[in-house]
Amino acid sequence: MSTEHLNFLEEIITEDLKNGKNNGRVLTRFPPEPNGYLHIGHSKSIVLNFGLAKKFGGKTNLRFDDTNPVTEDTEYVESIKEDIKWLGFEWENEFYASDYFEQIYEFAVTLIKKGLAYVDDSTAEEIAALKGTPTEPGKNSPFRDRSVEENLDLFARMRKGEFKDGEKTLRAKVDMASPNMLLRDPLMYRIKHVHHHRTGDKWCIYPMYDFAHGQSDSIENITHSICTLEFESHRPLYNWFIEQLGIFPSHQYEFARLNLNYTVMSKRKLLQLVNEKHVSGWDDPRMPTISALRRRGYTPESIRDFCERVGIARRENVIDVGLLEFCIREDLNKNATRRMAVLNPVKLIIDNYEEGKTEMLSGENNPEVEGGGGTRDIPFSKELWIEREDFMEEPPKKFFRLGPGLTVRLKHAYIVKCESYKKDAEGNVSEIHCIYYPESKSGSDTSDIKVKGTMHFVCAKNAVPVQVNLYDRLFSVENPQAEEGDFKTYMNPESLKVIENAYAEADMKNTKPGDKFQFIRLGYFCADKDSTSEKLIFNRTVTLKDSWSKEQKKA
Ligand code: ATP
Ligand code: MG
Repeated sequence: MSTEHLNFLEEIITEDLKNGKNNGRVLTRFPPEPNGYLHIGHSKSIVLNFGLAKKFGGKTNLRFDDTNPVTEDTEYVESIKEDIKWLGFEWENEFYASDYFEQIYEFAVTLIKKGLAYVDDSTAEEIAALKGTPTEPGKNSPFRDRSVEENLDLFARMRKGEFKDGEKTLRAKVDMASPNMLLRDPLMYRIKHVHHHRTGDKWCIYPMYDFAHGQSDSIENITHSICTLEFESHRPLYNWFIEQLGIFPSHQYEFARLNLNYTVMSKRKLLQLVNEKHVSGWDDPRMPTISALRRRGYTPESIRDFCERVGIARRENVIDVGLLEFCIREDLNKNATRRMAVLNPVKLIIDNYEEGKTEMLSGENNPEVEGGGGTRDIPFSKELWIEREDFMEEPPKKFFRLGPGLTVRLKHAYIVKCESYKKDAEGNVSEIHCIYYPESKSGSDTSDIKVKGTMHFVCAKNAVPVQVNLYDRLFSVENPQAEEGDFKTYMNPESLKVIENAYAEADMKNTKPGDKFQFIRLGYFCADKDSTSEKLIFNRTVTLKDSWSKEQKKA
């Protein structure tokens, strides 16, 4: 391990282990709030927490940070578990912060007894008014010097439900003059008469994040509590509570959160997109959620690879979504089965091919794996579908596709030469007529004809009709939340293009949801979760090459 470059968290843990801290034990946790689906940002935290534990022989707990009853739901709990498992990680224990409510309540009582917490009758506005500013100290609340007895009594009655929402809070007695605003008598509990997805109506007071997170870490004996940088200023409070309570000293470490361009990543914003039907759901393949990426055709390996490449730092930055696309391309290039599909079909007719005949050609499933990954039969007959864009009536020089008099190879098949074409009443090309050279068959070509282009095709008689969804960036600006006004006005109107009448190779009729392919010359595609043998639907995972950054450079 000495020669390897360690990130700063690995360095800290290495040092801790060297010093015999925590008896050589490493226990991390991943603490999602079940108020939405996990997104690619969370995957960075997952890879980090589970990855660190694994690297140092430790374990990771999954803890649902369900202390805010208003926004939480069991649907989210289930999706979070599914996503973590899919990413390839196993947690040691499944815990819920709500299971610690009784214990956390007792912690609060302990602090009251030590004279370190008090019940405040002030309204939210009054508390804010006395808070001061970063440059001016705050002022003490008139309720700050209540006796321990009175505080114990009031807090017990808060729990019993004697007061309405907002009527009272429990605050820590720290320091109203602290330069760290979070230490100016922070709230520990607030009254909320709402149903909780696990504890039902048992509680009407709920602990604040700062009086739940560190306490939960400590209860579980978490050694390294890793969170994102915005919690750095919370660390003194995290430590204060733990020290005053004299409980297991978990430690908090911060790293920079993952930001990705051309999308939004806060669950609140993603929920808006779902609720207002800008997308079809949390797993709409344009969303940055794990479930959407899965549906779109991303693999767990590609997402883990992405997180590793991004690395961890203590400085905020924005990662280009092109890197995520690079990672899935790398993976699918090695692993996706090659097939042919035509998205914008026009008929090609081989005039000198025998009417009614179908021959079976053979194509490798994947030239990137040794031995080609086996082969499949590709039917070939007189009438084929090719891409409309592969034909031009008046082709310019260097157009190595079809046009009057031009010659190309059809992939895995024969060389054909275009002799003529027909148009329909609207003036669109409707039939392209070619001749083929029987001796030019792929694999046994004795024709000596040189061609510069190879085109894909699908045999018309055997083609399987398919729907293809082409996805693009969900937003047309790099950072929609930094723009003026509602972030939704910056959605890319062309983020989804549905092609109803595409054709795929005969062999694809048995495709199952989740199956992944490279459509030759077109990109990587994945059968959608709603795809059936009656109606095959493919999502474009990613294009073959990064056409986006090229377009950007041109613009
Ligand atoms: P959001 O702001 O998207 O709602 P959150 O931080 O409120 O996210 P939590 O469910 O509280 O979401 O997050 C669980 C864990 O994932 C936390 O430890 C959090 O720090 C981490 N996390 C959330 N977003 C990111 C991100 N973009 N990059 C890295 N880690 C993240
Ligand atoms: Mg949160």
